[in-house]
Amino acid sequence: MSDPTSPHLDLFAAARPRLPGLIALYGTRRGGVSAHPFDSGNLGFSTGDDPAAVVENRRRLAAAAGISLDALVVAGQCHGAEVAVLGVEDRGEGARAPSERLRGFDALLLQDPGVYALSLSADCPLVVLADPESRIAGVAHAGWRGTAAGIVGALVEAFRARGSRPEALWAAQSPGICGGCYEVGDEVLEAVAGRPGAREACSGRFLDLRQIHRAELLAQGLRAGRVLPSVDCSFEDPQRFFSHRRDRGVTGRNGVLVGWS
Ligand SMILES: [Zn+2]
Repeated sequence: MSDPTSPHLDLFAAARPRLPGLIALYGTRRGGVSAHPFDSGNLGFSTGDDPAAVVENRRRLAAAAGISLDALVVAGQCHGAEVAVLGVEDRGEGARAPSERLRGFDALLLQDPGVYALSLSADCPLVVLADPESRIAGVAHAGWRGTAAGIVGALVEAFRARGSRPEALWAAQSPGICGGCYEVGDEVLEAVAGRPGAREACSGRFLDLRQIHRAELLAQGLRAGRVLPSVDCSFEDPQRFFSHRRDRGVTGRNGVLVGWS
């Protein structure tokens, strides 16, 4: 098990020492330099935080992973389902300032080792995918809008298009708002109703997005034992996680750094 007091969580901890060379390090609130209400490990520029603090927080996460900040790619997220395919030539894009070129991509596929994505969130679950055969990695930012638009399946499809076998893929889910805390309106329930597992993921007005994501991954052919869950709830744990809903929008961003070294 990972240390709950650590500023970083290995989302594939349950699968180690398998998957050597795969980095999927999740940055919590701890161990950063940002001031309240972004204290202290905010990784997102789109928050009102001091950009220099965000860069330093990103540098610390990268250092914990043993890589340089300039090996990171960070896209502008918009709650869509578009997949950006990235390679070593994209290293550094969006890492020190918001990227103009990579706007509107909530799913990132890394086709080369040595380039790393940083995907950000405050409540929305992230889904990390990794293929140990081809050393392709990817991540999807999957809130309700992206989930409704099929972002998890779109990312698996992008792997498949590059020759990945779904049964060889590994997946890990990130901290996010849990099904007991995520009360939603009719428009959300209707939007996700067509996704795999949606009936089981809804309990009255409460929605468990991670349950839908798991069902989507299994429907895409991933093995159940290779989909690693997270039970961490961002809404319930203000010591470790930012929560857009709990903090009424005035908050920072957690995130996962992913890629093959
Ligand atoms: Zn919860």
